[in-house]
Amino acid sequence: MIHRTELAWQTPNWQQSLANAISSLDQLCKYLELAPSQLPFSADANRQFPLRVPYNYASLIEKRNPRDPLLLQILPDIQELNKEPGFITDPVGDLTHHPAPGIIHKYHGRALIITTGACAIHCRYCFRRHFPYADSGIKRTEWEKTLAYLESHQEIDEIILSGGDPLVMSDQTLTEMIDQLAGIAHLQRIRIHTRVPTVLPERITGSPLMEHLANNRLTPIVVLHINHPNELSPSVTEALKEITKNHIFLLNQSVLLKTVNDSPSLLTLLSEKLFQAGVLPYYLHLLDKVEGAAHFAVQKEEAIALHQAMMESLPGYMVPKLVMEQDGADSKLPVTV
Ligand code: SF4
Repeated sequence: MIHRTELAWQTPNWQQSLANAISSLDQLCKYLELAPSQLPFSADANRQFPLRVPYNYASLIEKRNPRDPLLLQILPDIQELNKEPGFITDPVGDLTHHPAPGIIHKYHGRALIITTGACAIHCRYCFRRHFPYADSGIKRTEWEKTLAYLESHQEIDEIILSGGDPLVMSDQTLTEMIDQLAGIAHLQRIRIHTRVPTVLPERITGSPLMEHLANNRLTPIVVLHINHPNELSPSVTEALKEITKNHIFLLNQSVLLKTVNDSPSLLTLLSEKLFQAGVLPYYLHLLDKVEGAAHFAVQKEEAIALHQAMMESLPGYMVPKLVMEQDGADSKLPVTV
């Protein structure tokens, strides 16, 4: 007979939190003390990209507030069904820069591995919400081909673990992957793109993973994805301390989202709170034009005005670069009129 305590020992708490994430309208409404009729929920949008939000993140949403900016980021909304011109399923051209299993290689010197299709949270504006992970993500059976591609491209000195979210994978899988990448002599840096410390901080706190990452031959960088100052709760800042205490560079990228964070005071506060938590604001992205997310788009002129306002109220090192991604470009592009 297996006792409950033995089971708890076998499954780390963060994996239980991940498994218990909210995934239905009923659960969400019950937790937030809202009636379903108060929300513009769409079952069709939910079928296309299902609702998923861990309780830790849901606890930061104001109860009984159907317009909470964190709720807007995760709610399958009826507006997602509007087909807007220019909004497509692969807005940044991932699938045209996919030379080997699990690899996206767009920019000189850097390549990205689609480590998994899974995420702890489903962000409605995600530019990979239509990505065919089953066909184009990493495959265990083809991992040798992924490594061989990286080995044969001497110009790549930085590898980016992306997804999905790499930090939903187990410590064992990740450490094996990191160790194998460290064995490629021309790689110098490893970057992890993740929203996990923000939405599932218990994944980071107390885990040996960050220590392993720090004690690797490759210089580690963690790039967070935080969009709103309310996302920086005490448990999140605790998780971030766990990363910085291991001397890992911590950067943040945000997406500029209509009705979520398109305000100079909010963006300024976000930069201040990030810096206080040991994170350098790195990029503020114009929304990638992915099908289903048009209602989040902020116009270029407005984005430039918001960015200008940040420059006027913050020291330069706290102002993220305002950028956009364009299929075929050699790098992210500065947003200009
Ligand atoms: S965590 Fe990142 S990859 Fe996952 S849905 Fe959100 S934005 Fe997309």
